[in-house]
Amino acid sequence: MSENSTKKKVIIIGAGLGGISAAIMLKINGYDVEIFEKNEKIGGKLNTIKENGYTFDLGPSILTLPQYFKVLFEASGRDMSDYIPIQEVRPHWRNFFEDGTVIDLDPDMKVMKKELDKLGPDAYSDFRKFMEYSEKQYDILAPGYFDSGLDSTFDFMKFYDFSAVFKIDFFRTMHGRIAKIIKNPYLIDIFDYFIKYVGSSAYNAPGFMNLMPTIQFRYGLWYVPGGMYNIALGFKKYMDELGIKVHFNSEVTKIIAEENKVNAIEVNGKTHYADIIVSNMEVIPAYKDLLNEDDKFLGKMEKFEPSCSGLVLDIGLDIQYPQLAHHNFLYSQHQKEHFDLVFNKKMMPTDPTIYLVDSSKSDPSVAPPNCSGLKILPHIPYINEENPYTMDDYIKLKDTILIKLERMGLTDLRKHIVYEHLLTPIDIEKMYKSNKGSIYGVVSDFKKNFAFKLPKKSKKYKNLYFTGGTVNPGAGMPMVLLCGQNVCKAIIEDDKKNGN
Ligand SMILES: Cc1cc2nc3c(=O)[nH]c(=O)nc-3n(C[C@H](O)[C@H](O)[C@H](O)COP(=O)(O)OP(=O)(O)OC[C@H]3O[C@@H](n4cnc5c(N)ncnc54)[C@H](O)[C@@H]3O)c2cc1C
Repeated sequence: MSENSTKKKVIIIGAGLGGISAAIMLKINGYDVEIFEKNEKIGGKLNTIKENGYTFDLGPSILTLPQYFKVLFEASGRDMSDYIPIQEVRPHWRNFFEDGTVIDLDPDMKVMKKELDKLGPDAYSDFRKFMEYSEKQYDILAPGYFDSGLDSTFDFMKFYDFSAVFKIDFFRTMHGRIAKIIKNPYLIDIFDYFIKYVGSSAYNAPGFMNLMPTIQFRYGLWYVPGGMYNIALGFKKYMDELGIKVHFNSEVTKIIAEENKVNAIEVNGKTHYADIIVSNMEVIPAYKDLLNEDDKFLGKMEKFEPSCSGLVLDIGLDIQYPQLAHHNFLYSQHQKEHFDLVFNKKMMPTDPTIYLVDSSKSDPSVAPPNCSGLKILPHIPYINEENPYTMDDYIKLKDTILIKLERMGLTDLRKHIVYEHLLTPIDIEKMYKSNKGSIYGVVSDFKKNFAFKLPKKSKKYKNLYFTGGTVNPGAGMPMVLLCGQNVCKAIIEDDKKNGN
C-alpha cells in the first residue's frame, strides 16, 4: 500500500479490535487517524476484570490464526512478540459428556488416535476423513471469504472460478455434512459445536463453516500470558508509538451526513470533521442510532440477524479442579434441542452446552495459589420481544448451569465460590452497543444470509466504511482484525479510483 500524500483525516468510531486494526493500517499508510471510544478503556468485547487476585476474561479466551495479528506489526517492521507474546495451549479442548465420556482434542495425531479409539474402531478414521474435507473447504475459502473479505455473491462469482464454486459446501448444513461423514454421536456433537466460534447453529449454518476445525488443528490454539486482555494492551502500546490518538469516554451520538456523504461526528456536544468515517460500532445500531435511518432502510438489513448472546459467568474458586483442562466443553444431552431453542425459538436453553475456561491451567498468575478462576459461557438468545427475559430468568439459568457442572464432576462447586461476576445480554448490549446483546455480530445462517455479513462500504454514503464482527468476514478476533485490514485496502482503492 502506498503513502497517502494529502493526509486525509479518518475518524474511527470505537476502539474494538476491528477499529484498532483499521486505525493501525490506515496510519501506516499515511492517513491522519483518530479514534473515539465510548468506554474508558481499549478493546471493546476483548475485556477483563481483575478482582481479589483473579484475572478473568469477559470476552474472548481463544486466540486462533495468529498470522492475522502478526501482519499488523509486520506492516511497520515490528515483531508481534515484543507487544503480544503468545503460547500454544494443549490439549485444545477437553470435551465432557453426561455419561462420563471425556475426549480431548489435540493437534498431535497420536494423541487424537488414542482419544478417539475410546469411542470405537471407526471414530479416528471418520475424524481423518472429516478433517480432509474440512481442510479442502478452508483452502478454497480462505483466500476469498477471509483474506479478501468478499462482500456479496457477485464478489464471490467474480473471485472464484466456476469449478471452485462447486467445491464449496453450500449444499448441506454444517450438521448435515458432519453427520454424513461421521457416525459416532459424541464426535458429531464435538464438531457441531465448532459453530460456537461464530455464535450460530450447526443446523442452520452452511456446510462450508466446517472449515473451522482446520483453523484450530492446522494453525493452533493460543493463549496470551497474563490474560487475553494483554492483546488489547499490546495494541495500545503499538498505537501510542504510531501516534494514533484514542479519545476515551467519548460516545459518538451522531454522524452528520449530507446527501450521500458523511462529514462529521458529534461527541459530548462537540463536532469533529473528517474526510472518511469508519464505524466499528456495529452496522445496524450505527445506521439506526447515529444516522437515524428509517424503518424502510433498516428493513433491508433484516437478514443480518444478530448471532446469539451469552451469559458470561466468571467465578473465583478457593480450590482447583484437576480434571479440567484450560478449555472445556460440557455437552447438552440433546444438543439439537439446545440449538433449536436458542436459535429458532429464541428461548433460554434448558440443558445448554457449556464452554468453561480455566486459564490457571496454563497460567498460575491468573488466580491466587491453589485457587482457580472459571469463565463459564452458555450461548443464549439475543434480546428479543417474543421472550423478554428478566434478571430472574438469567439467575435461574445460572443456577441450572452450576447444578449441571456439579453433576458432571465439579463436586461442591457452589460451596467453593468466593467471587462472582455475571454479564447478561442486557449488559453486553449496553457495554458495547451490540445489536440486541449479540456477542459474535451477525448469525451465520444458510437460509437467511449464506453466512455473509454486512459489506465494509456503506451503500448509501460514499465515504462511510464499517469494520468489525457485523462486517465480512465476520466475528472472532482474527476475523475482525482482517476486516480492519480489508477496510484500509478498500479506502486506498477508492482514493485511487477518485484520483486522490
Ligand atoms: C463472551 C465472549 C466470548 C468470546 N470468545 C471469543 C473467543 O474465544 N475467540 C475469539 O476470537 N472471539 C471471541 N469472541 C468474539 C470477539 O470478542 C469479537 O468478535 C471481537 O472482539 C469483536 O470486535 P469488534 O471490533 O467487532 O467489536 P467490539 O469489540 O464490540 O468493539 C466495538 C467498540 O465500539 C465502541 N462503540 C460502540 N458504539 C460506539 C459509539 N457510538 N461511540 C463510541 N464508541 C462506540 C464499543 O464500546 C466497543 O469498544 C467472544 C466475544 C464475547 C463477548
